[in-house]
Amino acid sequence: MKLAVTGATGRMGREVIEAAQERGHEVAVAVNRDPAGETVAGVEIKPASNLEVLLSKRDVNALVDFTGPASSLSYVAACAATDTPAVVGTTGFDEGDEAALREYGTEIPLLRAANFARGVQALTQAVADAVAALPGYDVELTETHHNAKRDAPSGTAKELLATIEEHRDGERVHGREGEAPRSETEIGVHARRAGDVTGEHEVMLADNHEVVTLTHRAESRGVFAAGALDAAAWLTGRDRGYYTFADVVGDT
Ligand code: NAD
Repeated sequence: MKLAVTGATGRMGREVIEAAQERGHEVAVAVNRDPAGETVAGVEIKPASNLEVLLSKRDVNALVDFTGPASSLSYVAACAATDTPAVVGTTGFDEGDEAALREYGTEIPLLRAANFARGVQALTQAVADAVAALPGYDVELTETHHNAKRDAPSGTAKELLATIEEHRDGERVHGREGEAPRSETEIGVHARRAGDVTGEHEVMLADNHEVVTLTHRAESRGVFAAGALDAAAWLTGRDRGYYTFADVVGDT
């Protein structure tokens, strides 16, 4: 494949460029907001303000984006203007952004995932099964990430919460302080930020003198880069549409 990578000097951008090269793909376009003559794995990083022109010249199979919500939307707009499929791994979008991304899916093939680890697909299914099987059990979700993560709770935590809420009515309670007795229906949500933890999600169900915990831990960013590249390959040649990583995992 021939790829474009945004946020190319970020943690994930670097990981994606290196993983793409290991797989024998060409990184034809790599951009960042303020590149100062940098290179990543031998690839020259260009200013993101030139993205649309670069995409129109290089005819890439897909653009892979791990940046921030505002920049991600502007990069997807450049994809739509140049008919370039987009793989979006950025998190932290609000509801309006999400609607805009879905709308872009009517113009180009667009695949979005808050988590490109295959194990998180299995975790989500296991959480759905456990919550359905254990009605009335207390549910608490805890996620842990490195100390530079900007959004909280994580995009993956929000998707797990949506899965939990498909199987029970309850209100989310983000942390607790002071007099804060637990209601029967609340779903506790806890976001920890420390060190360089890549990403951990745990859903705990407890009642009846027993505790069930379901956990996923990413041990390297390589797992996300691999999933994003699998998604880019899967997206190549697809019709326009809005896709998720579940579509990829269900197929490959
Ligand atoms: P990072 O801070 O290391 O890198 C972000 C990159 O995006 C940087 O190069 C930065 O310059 C650029 N950027 C950020 N905001 C920008 C803006 N407003 N305009 C232009 N460029 C901008 O972050 P990271 O750890 O690489 O994570 C990036 C995103 O990917 C976050 O939203 C994170 O939650 C998400 N993420 C998703 C997955 C997944 O599997 N979907 C996995 C890891 C991280």
